[in-house]
Amino acid sequence: MTRLKEFLDSGVNPDEHLDTIAMLASLDYIEKGSPRIAKSIEQELVDQRNSLKLIASENYSSLRVQLAMGNWLTDKYAEGIPFQRYYAGCQNVDEVESYAQELAKKLFNAESCTVQPHSGCDANLAAYLAILAEVIENSKVKELGKPLMQMSHKEYESVRQDFTKARILGMSLKDGGHLTHGFRNNFSGKLFDAYTYGVDPVTERIHYDALRTLAKEVQPHILVAGYSSYSRKVDFSVMRSIADEVGAVLLVDMAHFSGLVAGKVFEEVYDPVAYADVVTSTTHKTLRGPRGGMILSKKRFEEGLKRVCPLAQGGPLEHVIAAKAVAFEEALSKEFQQYAHRIVENAETLARHFLDEGVRVITGGTENHLLVLDVFSSFGLTGKEAEERLYKSGIIVNKNAIPNDSRGVVQTSGIRLGTPAITTLNMGVQEMLEVANFIVRCLKGGDPAKIKADVQRLKARYPLYKGISLGKLCHTN
Ligand code: PLP
Repeated sequence: MTRLKEFLDSGVNPDEHLDTIAMLASLDYIEKGSPRIAKSIEQELVDQRNSLKLIASENYSSLRVQLAMGNWLTDKYAEGIPFQRYYAGCQNVDEVESYAQELAKKLFNAESCTVQPHSGCDANLAAYLAILAEVIENSKVKELGKPLMQMSHKEYESVRQDFTKARILGMSLKDGGHLTHGFRNNFSGKLFDAYTYGVDPVTERIHYDALRTLAKEVQPHILVAGYSSYSRKVDFSVMRSIADEVGAVLLVDMAHFSGLVAGKVFEEVYDPVAYADVVTSTTHKTLRGPRGGMILSKKRFEEGLKRVCPLAQGGPLEHVIAAKAVAFEEALSKEFQQYAHRIVENAETLARHFLDEGVRVITGGTENHLLVLDVFSSFGLTGKEAEERLYKSGIIVNKNAIPNDSRGVVQTSGIRLGTPAITTLNMGVQEMLEVANFIVRCLKGGDPAKIKADVQRLKARYPLYKGISLGKLCHTN
């Protein structure tokens, strides 16, 4: 019997379970032609249900978000921007994309927006190129009095050479920044003359005066704020003043915390959209949408950002953009704001339990959705060992370098934990004590099988996609 038939035979009211029915039908259908793929999709749900997801960059998107991606919008080419495309027949994706843009502008109170970037990395690449086009290329265009396409090879080569001299100043990877903020093995470290700032060795926080001094030395064209594994709020008014003092464009990469901005946890000086020239983001972390990217900007950069294609991409993924629109609608709700506040409350509570257990928490706590634990000084384990041990106990985290980490980025001395996914499941501050206990027991050498059983008991109280009955859908093992 198919999964769908079994579900419908169980006497449910179909109108109340359209999401479940759609998912079960699609799985049954995929299985008919591609059983190996159906098996992996099914197994992923089993695994996600059986484990505790503490990856700071992951979440559980709604089935509505997921279903908005799985349809024929995927087949449409739409290079260009809404209502100005290089392909015919774009009227429906024009509607989808322009609606997604309007929602994003409303959600973040932004002047301009593009939802075309396929990912956070692509958003940063497109944003950098658009900024360089504005601050370097346009002045050359004015100086020579002709557009790029009419320049001789030699003239264009001088523009290109100026591009390669552009300087960027971003947070170093080892102190919490991202690969795209100037890491040498990334386009950002190859495209730019890249410099990095770190955290203060004592407080493990950004030292704004030290950053100001460094910015004056480097004179960056772009100052990048934002992070992947930094657990404190950033004061974007100070970042703005530093950028202004050195004449830099301020780019904030809010990939990790855009859900906290949308959910009105980060307001006033902590709201990057109010202060930055350009703000990039992913749409799938705290924001809880489909995997993807977006860019918000002030009017000055609007023209440049209309050129994500051809600057950095070809055709936008309109089916993913449809899912971004659904996620933005969800993020405009009161429930989303409550969820965003609870993410931080949960992270703070988790950090407090670790501190009570004598575990060293980097910066002494957290003000956002993530925390970094020094597992080497607390348990004598490298981050890699801790990650593996936790995995065996059904707890999914990632190893992470800590400031001044002597064990490098492969072994590391730390792990990073995040609360977005477990908050989506509705876990609250009471459950954080259980979560902290599981982790401490595990890292102190507790029996992985026993901890895993406890983890599964906790997870059973907070089912994922609870309409989808596990017994009917999947075989657990
Ligand atoms: N920027 C930051 C700060 C990130 O943490 C990440 C992903 O982890 C990215 C950009 C890249 O996002 P994606 O994986 O969608 O390319």
